[in-house]
Amino acid sequence: TVRVRFAPSPTGALHIGGAHTALFNWLWARHMGGKFILRIEDTDQVRSTKEYEDTIMAGMKWMNLDWDEGPDIGGDFGPYRQTERLHLYRKYADELLERGLAYKDGEAVIFKVPLGEDIGFEDVVYGSIDVVSDSLKDGRTGQMKDIVLIKSDGMPTYNYAVVVDDHTMGITHVIRGEDHISNTPKQVLLYKALGWELPTFAHLPMILGKDKKKLSKRHGATSVYEYRDMGYMPDSVFNFLALLGWAPSGDREIFDRDLAIDEFDLKDVNRKPSVFDMDKLNYVNQGHLHALPTAKKIEMLAPFWEEAGIDLSSIDESYMEKAFDLMGGRGRTVKDLAEFTDYFLDFAPVTKRYDGEVSDETRKTLQDFFSDMMKLDTWTASAMEAFARDWTKEKGVKLKDVAMPMRFAITGHKVSPGIFELAEFMGKEEIKRRLSHYGF
Ligand code: GLU
Repeated sequence: TVRVRFAPSPTGALHIGGAHTALFNWLWARHMGGKFILRIEDTDQVRSTKEYEDTIMAGMKWMNLDWDEGPDIGGDFGPYRQTERLHLYRKYADELLERGLAYKDGEAVIFKVPLGEDIGFEDVVYGSIDVVSDSLKDGRTGQMKDIVLIKSDGMPTYNYAVVVDDHTMGITHVIRGEDHISNTPKQVLLYKALGWELPTFAHLPMILGKDKKKLSKRHGATSVYEYRDMGYMPDSVFNFLALLGWAPSGDREIFDRDLAIDEFDLKDVNRKPSVFDMDKLNYVNQGHLHALPTAKKIEMLAPFWEEAGIDLSSIDESYMEKAFDLMGGRGRTVKDLAEFTDYFLDFAPVTKRYDGEVSDETRKTLQDFFSDMMKLDTWTASAMEAFARDWTKEKGVKLKDVAMPMRFAITGHKVSPGIFELAEFMGKEEIKRRLSHYGF
């Protein structure tokens, strides 16, 4: 059975590149009915922390990337933290020393690179990579570079530990970022020296910013948490990241996990660098967000409403369902939609944004307009609109000069669904209450 792993170093939060790697491993495991393993590569004791390990796990949980074996849940191939596996690295290093394939220098154990060894490999995504061991030369001295296995402080190096772990954990497919292609030949050499079968390697395409430079902090938010806080949903981030290097049939752009699990194939991963495009993320998020059932939408929006101090105790689902209908797909992020629907729930945030300050002349016009509007017997959008057209024509003012202030006074926003549709939906009493608050 397929066994894949995500092997982050706990030296920072789960960033976009890491989430992308985790996601592709997860998809392959789920598609193949295999196992997805979480391994913590914490040998850099200065930079690794338990907090980062926890944040990475929480980030994966937020994205619903569940693992079958890992440091928190255990499994048959543990332990799952490298610092708890030192005995294994020691064991195989001793074996290499005994066989004369490695030597000691100080307390360090170093692998002696043989000449003329074929250390190329077949990559599922990048094709065949041909390398001979002679190329492991130091660019500066021109000397063949031996490979440090265990440093004098007793910690294994990345290239060695990863081989021991992937082999002893029965990993069948090593799926990781393309920045590790250059490390792979060294790992291949160690697999061969230890007499172990190579796993299948699949390196994932580089993720670029819109300027075609490698994605980094300069391009904006890097941790998945920042995307959560900006109002993106886990399913959208999942969908969007899956599109970086892969696409389902028919080039569908918005899809759910089940479709991705169903259709994903490592062989279809594209080696072309993919571009992290915020417009695309917004588009994908908007698609997922508006497709949610009302109750779920409310659940997603609630933290953002609460943060804005809105009282949610008497929230009415069927009322909000109609409110969302009126929004007609507006709002790209959860945060946007929360902000642009806050006035349906509460008048307080509106008054914070709009204090009713207008010139005396405008105030008089608005007062006359609103008081005539309140005399309407039929409180429907079409009746209000017809009334507004006639009224403004007669008084020689522009329709937008009454409609815009009305919108702002009621919603606290300069954009909203049609103001007369809103007024009909919210009801005459509520509109009257809101307008009178400002003395209109
Ligand atoms: N700890 C390594 C990293 O975070 C793992 C690389 C690998 O998957 O082999 O880059």
